[in-house]
Amino acid sequence: MMIILDKEQGIESGLEERIGLECPYCGVYAHMSPQSVPDAASLLRDKPKHVGLVYQCDACHAPVFLRFAVREYADNRVELLRNFVELERPKERFAFSYLPKHTEVMFREALSCYSNNSFNAFASMCRRAARSSFAALGEGGKLRAFEEVLAAQDIAGIDDETFAPIKAVLFGTGQQEDLPLLNRAQAGILLEILKDLFYQCFVRHGKLTRAIKVRQFFVSEEKNSLQSA
Ligand SMILES: [Zn+2]
Repeated sequence: MMIILDKEQGIESGLEERIGLECPYCGVYAHMSPQSVPDAASLLRDKPKHVGLVYQCDACHAPVFLRFAVREYADNRVELLRNFVELERPKERFAFSYLPKHTEVMFREALSCYSNNSFNAFASMCRRAARSSFAALGEGGKLRAFEEVLAAQDIAGIDDETFAPIKAVLFGTGQQEDLPLLNRAQAGILLEILKDLFYQCFVRHGKLTRAIKVRQFFVSEEKNSLQSA
């Protein structure tokens, strides 16, 4: 289905078919409805290669800007290709407060590279974040992290060939220049693996010890109140 903007009729087709997208504002996977559509007459005059349309998120009503490539300029109509570029990507979230400070700084920047589709910058920052976390884990930290990552590979059922570049990024000992080039799919796996690693090594520990501390606090409060009664 093509999106067609018509000089006389305005939107001719394609726009009533709504787009499903993860909203960069509310994070919900929502339908997007067209909110602002360029004027076909001025497009036909200037013939830009790309055209921007603003959609509205059905969940939070925020405006979401999408860029479409023009397929063809005909007499009175502009045909847009259906695939588009999201100008604002959803931000990746994580329970950063549980991470060691240095690791947190590196990982925040890694996620911001990922959100901007800079997958190799993302890989470089993942290596720095991983190294910083090994140091924070102390002696044997890297080995422990390696075992956690292998367990994650096993749980997710990722084959060795697919997983090799992920391991190379996280545990390779060579220079930054030797990092493998990652595409979107590989970067997505790396993202989930590193999140899982940090969850296992820091978030889980932090949440569990905090929760137990809270339980113990209430137990000792109860004791105190029994004794004073
Ligand atoms: Zn939204």
